[in-house]
Amino acid sequence: MSKQLILALSKGRILEETLPLLADAGITPAEDLSKSRKLLFDTNLPDVKLVIIRATDVPTYVQLGAADVGIAGKDVLLEHGAEGLYEPLDLEIARCKLMTAGVTGQLPAHARRRVATKFVNVARRYYAEQGIQAEVIKLYGAMELAPLMNLADEIVDIVDTGNTLRANGMEPRELIAHISTRLVVNKAAMTMKHDRIKPLLARLESAVRKRQTQLAE
Ligand code: AMP
Repeated sequence: MSKQLILALSKGRILEETLPLLADAGITPAEDLSKSRKLLFDTNLPDVKLVIIRATDVPTYVQLGAADVGIAGKDVLLEHGAEGLYEPLDLEIARCKLMTAGVTGQLPAHARRRVATKFVNVARRYYAEQGIQAEVIKLYGAMELAPLMNLADEIVDIVDTGNTLRANGMEPRELIAHISTRLVVNKAAMTMKHDRIKPLLARLESAVRKRQTQLAE
């Protein structure tokens, strides 16, 4: 196993909040990520590289050892299953909730509930645990539209302020899970590259604590 450390970062919202934490932990990209179409980046540390990929691909990269360490939302990890990964650190960024939601004031009428979501595994597990028969319909976006268009009775989606739901005549119902961004580590890398990963974890942990203290002030 090479001694190089590869970090897989989730594109988008999480990336913006991850980079300051990484910088605080001593890792900065060698070039401006927003000005490049590259996907693999050098950093200030010669043996640390960053790959910037879709959040849903991060657990796969880390699970299969293409990346040693990954940063992804708990929603993505729950949906993926994330077997064979360690999840040693909660970065406490991009907090939100995974919830069921439906049309405001309307109780789910169907005996067999139709649920639209991109989190099909999470939804199937959740409704089974609740003893509710559900037909889970996979969508790739705009879940809020599904009940309005009679495609589904309910959705499972990420809720932060609830504004998106309200703007579409919907309300949150049941909480499935509290979500935040997590650091995951490939199990083999955790053993083989322990001398590299352990100090990185310690530095990131103190960066997270520092950020929490600043937010509380
Ligand atoms: P809100 O209107 O504030 O409840 O935000 C809901 C929408 O924003 C959801 O449909 C998500 O697509 C997105 N969103 C909000 N927070 C997050 C997050 N932490 N991670 C990923 N997506 C999020």
